[in-house]
Amino acid sequence: MEASSGSETDGDFNGMSIFPLIETVVDGGSEVLPAFGRPISVSAVFKSDRQGRFVEFFRIYRPTDKNEKLEPFKRCYLHLSQVVKIGPKLQMWVVEDSDANEGPSQSMSFGLQCCLQRASNAFYSAIQEFKNNGTKLETVASTDANTLAKNKFEEKIDPSSAKMYFHYYGQLLHQQNMLQDYVRTGTYYAAVIENHADFHGKVVVDVGAGSGILSLFAAQAGAKHVYAIEASAMADNARLLIAGSPSLSQRITVIHGKVEEVELPEKADILISDPMGTLLVNERMLESYIIARDRFLVPNGKMFPSRGRLHMAPFRDELLYGEIANKALFWQQKNYYGVDLTALRDKAFQGYFSQPVVDAFDPRLLIAQPVIHDIDFVTAKEEDFFEIDVPLQFKSSVSAGVHGLACWFDVLFDGSAVPRWLTTSPGSPTTHWYQIRCLISQPLCVLAGQPVTGRLHMIAHSSQSYTVHLTLSASSMTPDLNGVGGTQTSTVELDLKEPYYRMTQFPAYAWFQQEQTQQPVSSSLLLRYDSV
Ligand code: SAH
Repeated sequence: MEASSGSETDGDFNGMSIFPLIETVVDGGSEVLPAFGRPISVSAVFKSDRQGRFVEFFRIYRPTDKNEKLEPFKRCYLHLSQVVKIGPKLQMWVVEDSDANEGPSQSMSFGLQCCLQRASNAFYSAIQEFKNNGTKLETVASTDANTLAKNKFEEKIDPSSAKMYFHYYGQLLHQQNMLQDYVRTGTYYAAVIENHADFHGKVVVDVGAGSGILSLFAAQAGAKHVYAIEASAMADNARLLIAGSPSLSQRITVIHGKVEEVELPEKADILISDPMGTLLVNERMLESYIIARDRFLVPNGKMFPSRGRLHMAPFRDELLYGEIANKALFWQQKNYYGVDLTALRDKAFQGYFSQPVVDAFDPRLLIAQPVIHDIDFVTAKEEDFFEIDVPLQFKSSVSAGVHGLACWFDVLFDGSAVPRWLTTSPGSPTTHWYQIRCLISQPLCVLAGQPVTGRLHMIAHSSQSYTVHLTLSASSMTPDLNGVGGTQTSTVELDLKEPYYRMTQFPAYAWFQQEQTQQPVSSSLLLRYDSV
């Protein structure tokens, strides 16, 4: 916003309402008149004249012809006004009257409500910027960006979800679970140490530091300084753990707070983080990783990891299908202590199929090459994660029943010496993310070579997870009533927040994995973030 010398308009803001709080006469026998009244719709325009810069509020009338009519309502000189934020969308204005040259100084206060929190922040920042005539433009601009970033977490995440989430990560048991995932932690360690040149002498930010383990790795690799940001109470334990390595601890600062909120004294050359949840995006922490990038990383700085890939392929698994369908059979009973349960049978059936199944499965259950959805963390925008829509197109390699879609992910540490992938694919050593399978309640029948199409549509929700809509289709082997080849389609809606954790029963598959790899299967790993 630029200040002007005349009385031209510098910018305007709409969607606000003013309501009186109190009317005061200061000095001369202070009188307080509470004057609660109906809110008045206003818009605001920034102007200036010889007396100084002011905000002019215009009252908005909406006469019957539906054309808005504006009428000057109140002029507030900024050098005579105090604006205080008293709520996310609410400001309190205390304005001294500029004409009160003689007699007691008059001041009046009013509440100003914006319809959106962002609009309130933007208006507040614009006022500060206009008031300071650009002398503190940078500070104001960054304050604005920071306020917005802070709001980004609070605006989109349900506070009770966030509370549970950070409580979970505040417990050592869950940090230990991640540390004990040797595939994960070992891959991070190897990626950092093999690429120590990317860390040596560099400023590093550990986004969501947890126990502080990745900060310690970065310091081992010779980082100049590491800022370990952790929002949960685990930050205190990270301090203790880091203090136990005195040769590294002088180069690590633990900051307790959200990456959306905290301030750092300098920019980072490289970010390191483990923001991946089941199906890559669960927990919605990748969005915080992107926000941290925009707030803390120097242009062209590095990110560890810098890229993620979601893999999806259709699978067959009669055993699993039977297991899930059988659970709903309970509601099939017509005489359960004399009560007919069948009214809830369909709901129960639907409920069981809405849970993504988490376990490690035999890759031979896959019936087609996977589709890959690539995400570049270096260029992705936070909003890219609000809705993820992946068209699916496969070619079945066998004749089989299709029971659903199997998903897994990998991430890339694009080190300048040795690029390294961390994979959670079936057939690779098991991680605490396992794999995810979305079952369809109506299996499809396909022949070898037949195309299978569909869509995976994931919509983020405020409980730090996603609603997943899956559709799979294939042409039908039997013609429809008109003698034309029909289509078989199955759709299902799943909540990624409510997985069916099948690990205790697994390892039909363990023998295969042990044969294939050196890494023993650890059935003691807990799921990444199990909110239930
Ligand atoms: N870096 C650790 C922990 C990874 S788990 C390790 O690799 O072992 C992710 C951590 O990020 C959790 O401890 C969680 O509390 C933290 N976290 C999640 N969102 C965050 C945010 N917005 N700001 C700061 N910390 C966050």
